[in-house]
Amino acid sequence: MELIDLHTHSSASDGTMAPKDLVRLAKERGLKAVALTDHDTIDGLAEAVAAGEQWDIEVVPGVEISARHPGGSMHILGYFLDYENARLDERLAVLKQARKDRNPQIIAKLNALGIPLRMEQVERLSGKGQMGRPHIARALYEGGYVRSLQEAFDIYLGNQGKAYVEKFRFPPEEAIGMIRDARGVPVLSHPFTLGLKNPKALREQLRELARLGLAGLEVFYPEHSPEMETLYLSLARELGLLVTGGSDFHGDNKPEVELGRVNCQKKLTYALLEALKAWRRREYK
Ligand SMILES: [Zn+2]
Ligand SMILES: [Zn+2]
Repeated sequence: MELIDLHTHSSASDGTMAPKDLVRLAKERGLKAVALTDHDTIDGLAEAVAAGEQWDIEVVPGVEISARHPGGSMHILGYFLDYENARLDERLAVLKQARKDRNPQIIAKLNALGIPLRMEQVERLSGKGQMGRPHIARALYEGGYVRSLQEAFDIYLGNQGKAYVEKFRFPPEEAIGMIRDARGVPVLSHPFTLGLKNPKALREQLRELARLGLAGLEVFYPEHSPEMETLYLSLARELGLLVTGGSDFHGDNKPEVELGRVNCQKKLTYALLEALKAWRRREYK
């Protein structure tokens, strides 16, 4: 059976492995294809694609864009991006700048709360990748201000935390639009994070996203229960959405997740990828 993983993060965003090492690991795991879908950046794609050629494994150039969604988080995956398209890079740069501006704001709030953390301490922990709340959490932990990374989020950095700063996000139509402008295939990640418990509300939201140009739904995902999977599959069928899946691998930042693994690895077959390709051929003749 030819297996794939369509959802992974490298050190270009908040994963711990360099894009080339991630691709090599995918090859070692015996995968036929792997998509690199870093948060809000395409910076790792050239390296990943080159590594795919070197190790003889298909690399799908992708991205995962955070979109505005009150009450939950909405992530939109984009596959088969024409990543040399300067316009996409330019639009994602808006998010990068917003993320950069946000960290000093969080630090300032922490300082006001009596925690003398400095930007340099956090920068040291983030290495070359995007710096964000996970790094601030680690700095808080290493500084002895919290007992765990979880506590850092619960008390300070989470949506309800004392040092929380609202993040800039594109509205869904713009996230979908920029993926389509780069001739990519837009897919909604892990639908449960939308926070819509009622299947009817979820259906309505998906219908709206489909109207905005969404092409697929991430059905296979480590945190999806069999019931969720069944629901998402039936909604995908009903709304004519493609079905995808992936591990959301982050390297050591999410050690419980293995590359190529969802609850049942056999579900991530190459046929899912073929369907994405067929959609793309039809859509962008
Ligand atoms: Zn996500
Ligand atoms: Zn992800």
